[in-house]
Amino acid sequence: MALSDRPDQPVVLHGVQHLFHPPVLLPQWPSEDRRTRMVFITRDLPQEAIEATLTAFESAVEEPAEPPSSAGRPAAGGSRREFLAVAAAAAATTAFVAPARAIMGPDDKFDLVIKGGDVLDPSQSLRGKRDIGIRYGVIEAAEPEIPASRGVRVLDASGKLVTPGLVDLHAHVYPYGSAIGIPADELVGHQCSTTCVSAGDAGANNFAAFRRFIVAQTRTRLYAFIHIANTGLASFPVAELTNIDIANVDAAAKAIAENADLALGAKVRMSENIIAKNGIEPLKRAIAACEKAGTGGRVMVHIGGVETRALMSEILDLLRPGDILTHAYTGAPNLAGDFTNIIQDGRPLPAALAAKQRGVVFDVGHGGGSFDYTVAEAAIAQGCPPDTISSDIHVFSGNTPGMPYLTWVMSKFLGLGFPLDQVVAMATVNPAKVINRLPKLGTLQVGAPGDVAIMELVEGPVSFVDTRNNTRNGTVHLQPVQTVTAGVPFGRPYNLPFSVR
Ligand SMILES: [Zn+2]
Repeated sequence: MALSDRPDQPVVLHGVQHLFHPPVLLPQWPSEDRRTRMVFITRDLPQEAIEATLTAFESAVEEPAEPPSSAGRPAAGGSRREFLAVAAAAAATTAFVAPARAIMGPDDKFDLVIKGGDVLDPSQSLRGKRDIGIRYGVIEAAEPEIPASRGVRVLDASGKLVTPGLVDLHAHVYPYGSAIGIPADELVGHQCSTTCVSAGDAGANNFAAFRRFIVAQTRTRLYAFIHIANTGLASFPVAELTNIDIANVDAAAKAIAENADLALGAKVRMSENIIAKNGIEPLKRAIAACEKAGTGGRVMVHIGGVETRALMSEILDLLRPGDILTHAYTGAPNLAGDFTNIIQDGRPLPAALAAKQRGVVFDVGHGGGSFDYTVAEAAIAQGCPPDTISSDIHVFSGNTPGMPYLTWVMSKFLGLGFPLDQVVAMATVNPAKVINRLPKLGTLQVGAPGDVAIMELVEGPVSFVDTRNNTRNGTVHLQPVQTVTAGVPFGRPYNLPFSVR
């Protein structure tokens, strides 16, 4: 490749699949021919596919403001290839100065190689045997074969399913801050979660303690919806929103804005036994707090036992695209015993269909009382499938027969007929898009955080129960085996040295 500022010395760039080797400067050109050349070694790849990629690349590259010296500069009307050569050379020069991240040389070792797994990454429609190489906490390679000798440590994943680390969009992971929280790291062995979202455990009054004492000491990546009630769920099991004065828009907005790196928006629980006769007002305040914060925050609204059917529709109508309806398939009745959920007379509420169509996120949030097979089946069959699968795990729900650990809830959706890749997407890339705080969360693409779930896809009859004693049988379920967060496995093999993270 010709360099504009070193006309006598060509540079060689060598990439194999996702691995980009350091550029090598040659002492001289091998002949008088000083044209830049691009060589593709491929199989089953038509030339047109490469041409189309180059065209896309060309249209994305802007011409440099300062023209480079004459060596590589195409004359006016120069060919596309000549222009590309200049662009590629400019990219190579930049690589010397400021690499976006450490480039691995052929002799560099991965900190961890996960070998032999059946890799499933819905974010890139990838399914197949791959070895995954992680270095500096980041996925560096996903190749059909990485020799074990290239890893400082090796995890044998043969016969196992390997996916991006699971992302639990609704969990209660504020231990000591409420009577229901579980330390997120203790959940890892039970559900392969590398990221958990605290669903309103903390409000404006106690979010700082969550940040300083929980997030700072937890290996699992944590994010949060800040409760519109100042005290979050600290009063549990006493309802937090019977007195509307506790829903202070200014305080919540300030907390959301000041913690924009962790705070995804506001949480509000709209059940009659939580808000009494406050009607739609708590949700209005949650939305107002997000808008006032100015961080593009979303509202996560908890339903189940809403006071009236009319209020249920009103809640759905108020949700904005991107807001999250959690416990979407709850079958819990209100205080009078009336079923006010999104399915009425066997059909989804028109407001539920409209919400789904305008981009409200339907989240499972199984929990100890919020997943009813009859509601889920009717909703799924009639246009309201889930976007995200979450656990709503806490110390109470985790001890109920529904066992709402994330992998078990995912297994229930396998039982409902969802294909495996869709189920994994709903617990990886889909919730990662909702979080949207970290590039490439929820994927195994090169450059993504080194978060990996290793599970066993156990074949055989299995029986599930929801939170209303309905049972369903399945033929397969997911069983956690091992979890890696930021390149560091939980448990064996222990990281050497562990103090790095
Ligand atoms: Zn919850």
